[in-house]
Amino acid sequence: MKTAFLLILLGLTFGLQSCEKNENNKPNIIIILADDLGYEDLGFQGSKRITTPHLDRLAMGGVRFTDGHVSASVCSPSRAGLMTGRYQQRFGHEANVPPRPHGMDTQERTIAQALKEQGYTTACFGKWHLGDEDHHYPTVRGFDHFYGLREGSRSYWYDETKSDKPNDPHGIEHNGIQVKFEGHLTDRLGDQTVKFLNENKDQPFFAYLSFTAPHGPLESKPEDMEALGTDDNYLGLIYGMDRNIGKVVNALEKNDLMENTIIWFLSDNGGIGPTYSNYPLGGLKGFKFEGGHRVPFILYWKGHVTAGQDYDQMITSLDIYPTSLAAAGGSLEQTRPLDGVDLLPFINNEKKGIPHQQLYWRKLDCAAIRDGNWKLIRVDDYGYALYNLEEDISEANDLSNKMPEKVDELKNKFEKWEQDKMEPIWGEGEIYKYMRYNYHTERFKNPDYSDQEMKAYMNEMKKKLKNKSRENE
Ligand code: CA
Repeated sequence: MKTAFLLILLGLTFGLQSCEKNENNKPNIIIILADDLGYEDLGFQGSKRITTPHLDRLAMGGVRFTDGHVSASVCSPSRAGLMTGRYQQRFGHEANVPPRPHGMDTQERTIAQALKEQGYTTACFGKWHLGDEDHHYPTVRGFDHFYGLREGSRSYWYDETKSDKPNDPHGIEHNGIQVKFEGHLTDRLGDQTVKFLNENKDQPFFAYLSFTAPHGPLESKPEDMEALGTDDNYLGLIYGMDRNIGKVVNALEKNDLMENTIIWFLSDNGGIGPTYSNYPLGGLKGFKFEGGHRVPFILYWKGHVTAGQDYDQMITSLDIYPTSLAAAGGSLEQTRPLDGVDLLPFINNEKKGIPHQQLYWRKLDCAAIRDGNWKLIRVDDYGYALYNLEEDISEANDLSNKMPEKVDELKNKFEKWEQDKMEPIWGEGEIYKYMRYNYHTERFKNPDYSDQEMKAYMNEMKKKLKNKSRENE
C-alpha cells in the first residue's frame, strides 16, 4: 500500500515535472549571420585555405543546405527579408543602405516580435543595417536587448576619431547608449552573446548574432592570422568568427542547452574583396549570379533533423522565420503573408513536394528568377541571360539565344511575381547602376573573366565614370 502510494506520488511528481518541462520546452533559437562570406570559405564548404572547426561541427550535427539562398545579394535588403520572412520588395526595401529617414517598414512584423509573442526573450548582437533612425532601432523592432551598430560596417577596433565619434551610427551601442569597447569587435559580439545565454538559460530565448565579419575593413586580430598560419586578414576574420561561435556553443553545452537549441548559420550575401572564393559559383556580392545570393547555410537542431545530411532542394533565408516560429509553437497565419515556409516537414520527409519551385531576386535595374535548375537574369536596357544550373553551376554558358521559349516562360513567371511588389522606396548611386550593367553584361559574354581581370575592368569603369562626371561639371 505504502509502496503503491509512493509510486503514485513519484508518478505524479514526475508527470508534473515533465509537463512543466514541456511547457517551458520551447526551443531556444539562434541565428548566426556572417557578412559577405565567400561560398567556399569554410571548412565544411570545402575550403583548403581555412579551418572552421566549430562551424564544421554544427554542420556535421545538422543539415547543410546546398542550394540555400538569401533574398538579396547585398546587406540591407537581405536582412530585411531575413527579419520579416517576406520578399523585401513587398515593402520597397530593395536597394542597399537605407538613407535617412528610410529603414525597414515599421508595419512589418519581425521574427523577433513574433517570437517575443511566444514568450521568448530576444536579443540582437552586431550589425543592424535596417535604418539609423530611433524608430527603426532593434529594441523597438522586437528585440529586448541590443549591443551593436545601427549601420552596415565599421572598424573592428574602437576609434574615437572615426566610427566611435559621439552620435555616429557606426558606433557600438548598448540599448541606445553609445559604449566603448576593448579589443576586437568580433570577440565582444561573441562575449555579449555568451553573457545573454548565461543570463537567460532558464527561459526560451532568441539571439540574433549578426557578425560584421568578414566584411571590410579587413582588420583581423593578429592572433587569429597567426593561429591559422596566414597573413590574409579576410581568412583571419573568418577564423575569429568561428572561434567566437565556438564560445557560444561552449556556453550552450555548459548550460545543458545543446539538446534544445536551434542554430541557423548563413551569410547575408556572397563574397567580395581581394581574396574571397565563391567557388564553384560564378559572380560575387551585389550581382545576380549564384555567387551573389547562394550562401553557406546550415540548420542545427539535435534530435529533430538527421545529423550530417545535405539537403539539396532550393531553400531561402525567408524560411528561417516560419520554420523558427513553427518550432516555437506559433501560428504562421499572419496579416501580411509570409513568403517563406516551414522547412522541417520537408527536410524530414513528412511533407511531399519541395519548399520552393521558384525563387526571385530584384534590385532596381537587375533581376533574376530560379525555376528549379533554370536561371534567368534580366538587366534593364540589355535583355536576358539564361542558364541551366544542372550542368552549368558557374553560369558560364548563356543559353538565351538557343532557347528563346524558355526565356519567355521564365520572363513571364518573373513578371507575374512582380505584379504585387512595390517600386523601391530609395535607390543607389549612378556609379553602382553603371557597374551593375557592365558587370552583368560583360560576364554574360566573357564568363572566363577572372576576378582580378574583372576588378581591373571595374576600376577602369569607375575612372571613366569619374572623368565623365567631371566633363559634365
Ligand atoms: Ca553583406
